Amino acid sequence: MDEFELINRIRVRAGARADVVLGIGDDCALLEVPAGLQLAVTSDTLNAGVHFPPETAAFDIGWKALAVNLSDLAAMGARPAWCTLALALPEADAGFVAGFLDGFFALADLHDVALVGGDTTRGPLSINVTAHGFVAPGAALRRDGARVGDDVWVSGTLGDAAAALRQWRDGQPVDGDLRARLDRPTPRVALGQALGGVASACIDLSDGLLADLGHVCRASGVGARIEVEALPASAALLSAGDAQRRRTLQATGGDDYELCFTALPACRQSVLDAARSSRVPVTRIGRIDHGNVVLALSANGDAWIPAHAGFVHFG
Ligand code: ADP
Ligand code: MG
Repeated sequence: MDEFELINRIRVRAGARADVVLGIGDDCALLEVPAGLQLAVTSDTLNAGVHFPPETAAFDIGWKALAVNLSDLAAMGARPAWCTLALALPEADAGFVAGFLDGFFALADLHDVALVGGDTTRGPLSINVTAHGFVAPGAALRRDGARVGDDVWVSGTLGDAAAALRQWRDGQPVDGDLRARLDRPTPRVALGQALGGVASACIDLSDGLLADLGHVCRASGVGARIEVEALPASAALLSAGDAQRRRTLQATGGDDYELCFTALPACRQSVLDAARSSRVPVTRIGRIDHGNVVLALSANGDAWIPAHAGFVHFG
């Protein structure tokens, strides 16, 4: 399979939307942004061995490459529309490509995202996706909107993906439910949009709750207090290890792709309505405070110190 056969395999599955004037095949795509809306743009790369274990299934690599980008759009409250795909492959292995595209388009089709272009090169396996979405002017959920007194919330459960990675690194059998959270994260696209006009700030959790909430606090010029025992855990995580280990995974493990957001206490019912309409559970885990640090507290009010902080490239 040469480069052009490969691109053709991609093109036939790219998905159609009325706002794609010209998709894959020319030097650029031509796209129609709806009048009166802003374009939200985000880009993320997955490198083999850095962002996923080398033996990860092709389907899951394709799914995750798009999922992490849709998660960024969700965190801004944007509605996904288009994406591009820059693919570096060590060889044009037809089986790998078929599995990859199955995973990629399974998620793209769920969210009506059209693939409108990209680039294909030879090199160590690396996947860059750029995703585009729409948001009304002034409605985007930014990192800099948290205010003292706001509640802090998270969607779903935390720590599953990190627990899977830990089991894998420790050479243990990896629990299937935990592994699914690592390999096929669910971007909270509907929740992000439902939180427009409700949340004061939002971020998606890729590097770990404490690290990512720290980004919100820095951008907003505030601090936060988190109740470690309030952090939501899945049944799989609850049966995977002791409490201290679990809390470290929940507070600092990465790859959750849940939303962490802030909202006025007066908006609690609106937050719960947004959660119900988007069918994603949410949990209140703390509040925004004066200062500039994220404090994690045990049930007795003592500071809780994790074994290690979030993931930092080059850190
Ligand atoms: P150029 O050399 O002009 O950049 P290419 O030969 O790289 O063109 O690509 C031809 C067409 O195929 C372009 O429209 C490009 O956007 C698209 N394309 C290339 N690789 C991919 C890919 N991995 N996924 C989606 N579209 C791609
Ligand atoms: Mg090119």
